[in-house]
Amino acid sequence: MKPRFLQVALPVPMRRRYEYRLGEENQAGLVAPGIRVDVPFGRRKNQTGVILKVSNQAVLPVDKIKPINKLIDAAPLFSPDHLALLLWAASYYQHPVGDALFSALPGLLRRGRPLPAPLDPTAPGLGEEQTATPGVRLNEQQRDAVAAITGAAGTYRAYALQGVTGSGKTEVYIEAVRSMVERGKQALILVPEIGLTPQFIDRLKQRLQVDVRVQHSALSETERLRNWTAARNGEAAVVIGARSAIWTPLKSPGIYVVDEEHDSSYKQESGFRYSAKDIAVARGKFDQAPVVLGSATPSLETLRNVKIGKYARLSLPLRAAGTPPEIRIVNLRNQPVASAVSKPLLEAIRDTLNKNEQALLFLNRRGYAPVILCHACGWHAECQRCSVKMTFHKANNKLICHHCDARRPLPERCPDCAGEQLVEVGHGTQRLGQILSEHFPAAKILRVDRDSARRRGSLEAMIKASASGEANILIGTQMLAKGHHFPNLTLVGVIDADAGLLSADFRASERMAQLIVQVSGRAGRAHQPGKVYIQTHFPTHPLLQTLTQRGYDDFARALLAERKNALLPPYAYLALLTAEATDGAAARQFLAKARRRLEEIGAGLGLGLEILGPVAAPIEKRRGRFRSQLLAQSKNRNTLRKAMASWSQALESIPGANRARWALDIDPQDLL
Ligand code: ADP
Ligand code: ZN
Ligand code: ZN
Repeated sequence: MKPRFLQVALPVPMRRRYEYRLGEENQAGLVAPGIRVDVPFGRRKNQTGVILKVSNQAVLPVDKIKPINKLIDAAPLFSPDHLALLLWAASYYQHPVGDALFSALPGLLRRGRPLPAPLDPTAPGLGEEQTATPGVRLNEQQRDAVAAITGAAGTYRAYALQGVTGSGKTEVYIEAVRSMVERGKQALILVPEIGLTPQFIDRLKQRLQVDVRVQHSALSETERLRNWTAARNGEAAVVIGARSAIWTPLKSPGIYVVDEEHDSSYKQESGFRYSAKDIAVARGKFDQAPVVLGSATPSLETLRNVKIGKYARLSLPLRAAGTPPEIRIVNLRNQPVASAVSKPLLEAIRDTLNKNEQALLFLNRRGYAPVILCHACGWHAECQRCSVKMTFHKANNKLICHHCDARRPLPERCPDCAGEQLVEVGHGTQRLGQILSEHFPAAKILRVDRDSARRRGSLEAMIKASASGEANILIGTQMLAKGHHFPNLTLVGVIDADAGLLSADFRASERMAQLIVQVSGRAGRAHQPGKVYIQTHFPTHPLLQTLTQRGYDDFARALLAERKNALLPPYAYLALLTAEATDGAAARQFLAKARRRLEEIGAGLGLGLEILGPVAAPIEKRRGRFRSQLLAQSKNRNTLRKAMASWSQALESIPGANRARWALDIDPQDLL
């Protein structure tokens, strides 16, 4: 038999493929793309890799090619389609293929463990303890939505399912998934964060009565591998998970659902930087399956795709239960400077408590006070490793950096002038809790943020406690804004809407609006109508006015017009090159050279490409490293792709590239 040569993907941050050959002893086994091999690599004797290509012709000189140690799998881990998807994703995001492939695998498979054996069909099923709950009777819009989605079974079609919170989107997902499962197909459902969606998962299991696998970061590696394998083998009917679950292979893909598609958690912000939402759409195309992107507040990208006919819109305009809340803007300019809760909001809370209903106050800032200031000289506590102020956490009397988690005790005196008056400026959730307990000593107050979740055990338990109504006042960060169902909640207060109006990030106003609509959606879901109070110093801000008086669609339309004028996404495509180094100059020099390379590439290809920077990142120092960035922008996605393909290759060979830590982010969400 002829010698066979293998191109192998290895988990290394290099943009190249590695070549090996088969030894005599491997000639018998199946050799195909998607099969893992154990190979010697550098000083390592055993490294797991994945075969990408098999050929009879070597690329490298034959005497340079080492034999593999062994074949790990008897059959490919993924179908050719799934492998094609992974390769496409690595190329789209300009990420080294081995690193991309490996970040899409469960940890145990990355480390060379064998694939578990298929499920024993005589073993007891997993869905059996669930008792079936009958479904609701869908309203007309829900029926139309389900009919459209299931009508696309076996073909690619993307749907933007837009409906306010409580309009019954989940019912549409459930019925669409049921229909696919009945055809013997599988469903993959993405949610922003598993810990925040216990109710959704329970409902899904009770209603569908099939094998539902929840991929969860809290599972053991063995459990995660078992779920992955069950999906791959077609044993699991439904897989539900957060961002990284998008890489779960399916034997017979029937439908992809992305709930709360506007949520920024779908974007991976380190390593292999991908958008799970966009991958879901790509999978739909690869697999010929419908994709449902659900939200009360679709992202501007999705709305634009609807406008140009790429996605079909399905609307659920009515609340299935309850009536939409009444929104009131509270002008903070007329309120005492230091009060976090305005008079009108305090009165509304009192009113709510008197009626034995629940109030939710939303403040996206944990801790006690975001700034500690010396009254005498103006000194303020800054993190030594990051260019940010440290947040005061009163519970443990510490200053904590929310970027690197550095901690130190609150000094007794000002370190600069020895002044004794250190002033707490601004409000975090802890302080808000204290203020409210002073106003309402008899009320039970429950604070839900990362700190309290860590202290009280699980987020899930806290969400359940919140929903049960045992707390009278809930205080939460954005964790509480997502799709929970709080039956007794009738008042929502947005403590500070200004951050979204003042930020330099062009996406800030979009996010603020989504958040306001989401938290407003918590109010008055069951029987009582809800009220929403929004506190701001800019009560007449046109975007805020449009949002509260005319709703999210009009708001989004106004914002889209702004983006179009400014040539920002979704009317332009972006790529962000970031570099960081302990020596800030090294990072900037690298970016300056990178810029020149990109200019050459752009000119060579004759492409209309705009390049901005290098500039310092908004938070310049983080964990002791100085960060800079360079932005490339084009009206045309293909233009940008072409340029990025050449550029990402060129970057590795720029002199000094190894002195800065750099990363290329395609379709970046946060401009750092
Ligand atoms: P969303 O996912 O849009 O927030 P859900 O699907 O969770 O909305 O529905 C909100 C509430 O309304 C749930 O309690 C659900 O059982 C109920 N519901 C949904 N659709 C209907 C319907 N057609 N008839 C009666 N109740 C419904
Ligand atoms: Zn001082
Ligand atoms: Zn820090």
